[in-house]
Amino acid sequence: MTHRVHNFGAGPAALPLSVLETVREELLDHRGSGMSILETSHRSPRYDAVHEGAIAGLRELLGGAALGEDYEVLFMGGGARTQFGLVPWNLMPAGGSADYLVTGSWAAMAAAEGAKRGRAREAWSSAGTGHDRVPGPGDYEPDPGAAYLHYTSNNTIFGTQFPGVPEAGGAPLVADMSSDVLSRPLDLDRFGLIYAGAQKNLGPAGVTVVIVRRDLLARSPAELPDTLSYAKMAAKRSLLNTPPVFAIYVLDLVLRHLRELGGLEAAARRNEEKAALLYRAIDGSGGFYRGHARPEARSRMNVTFRLPSEELEARFLAEAANEGLVGLKGHRSVGGVRASIYNAVEAEAVRALVAFMADFARRAG
Ligand code: PMP
Repeated sequence: MTHRVHNFGAGPAALPLSVLETVREELLDHRGSGMSILETSHRSPRYDAVHEGAIAGLRELLGGAALGEDYEVLFMGGGARTQFGLVPWNLMPAGGSADYLVTGSWAAMAAAEGAKRGRAREAWSSAGTGHDRVPGPGDYEPDPGAAYLHYTSNNTIFGTQFPGVPEAGGAPLVADMSSDVLSRPLDLDRFGLIYAGAQKNLGPAGVTVVIVRRDLLARSPAELPDTLSYAKMAAKRSLLNTPPVFAIYVLDLVLRHLRELGGLEAAARRNEEKAALLYRAIDGSGGFYRGHARPEARSRMNVTFRLPSEELEARFLAEAANEGLVGLKGHRSVGGVRASIYNAVEAEAVRALVAFMADFARRAG
């Protein structure tokens, strides 16, 4: 038996075991071809089936037929951070203005890239309260003339998440969904563009998924490098240049697995249950564990909490690792503990963590 730990890492993160087993099985001989998908031309029919399979999988999970007509699915390189720059350079006219909801470090970085193209107006920020909350309806005034309103649906570092879809006041809504894409059903019609680095809920690092409403493609300026232009990439089905074939192959397997498990409704139920287990453990610890996010903004993907001292936190992390519970160290800018419980983290792993937390609090509290 291969030794497997419970991986609570924030990303690259746990992948479904059955997907990894398929990858292993198919690695030397991909579906009877006698060669690996790693060695296969991106212009071959066999790769094309994988590429189209991944696009169809996303379409099916996210929006069914509607997604087919109105939205384009792109596979790009450079990670989500590259999208921080590509969104303004594709969607904002030079010297234009866009709104940003600044709910954490990634959102702030996205806004900083926006400011290189035009005005990145901070419509709302949680910086003053240590990014422990997200805005509710009426907390900010969207600029109706904005090129778009950008937000980060799940704040990976601080552990907050928008419970719903924020108001954009008529401007196209742009969402960085890197850390909660496909974790719950989505009302795609409300979005102009969604992007996500793959290495949390989708697959391996190396591919970034961009879903963009077709009418917005007309905004991409002709002078952008071709591979950085949404319009040019869409026109070539993201096969303008060699795509990250291996990452897209694994993405396709992850999407198939997610559909077999019942799609996004079922995923949301599993994720709710896992998160509830952890938040109950925090809230029921008599103050030994203290959650960072305010209850109404708690993330179902990244559960962040502190212990009474940094010394205890260090001991907690070391002892947890000894028990096979790894990847729990909080982001360096926040400290404490962060349990990332993306789609592929099983309830069994969360139950093991909760049992360890109770035992540790009993011994140290
Ligand atoms: N946005 C969010 C919400 C993230 O969590 C991350 C990575 N942790 C990024 C952007 C940056 O992603 P990448 O490393 O793919 O550029």
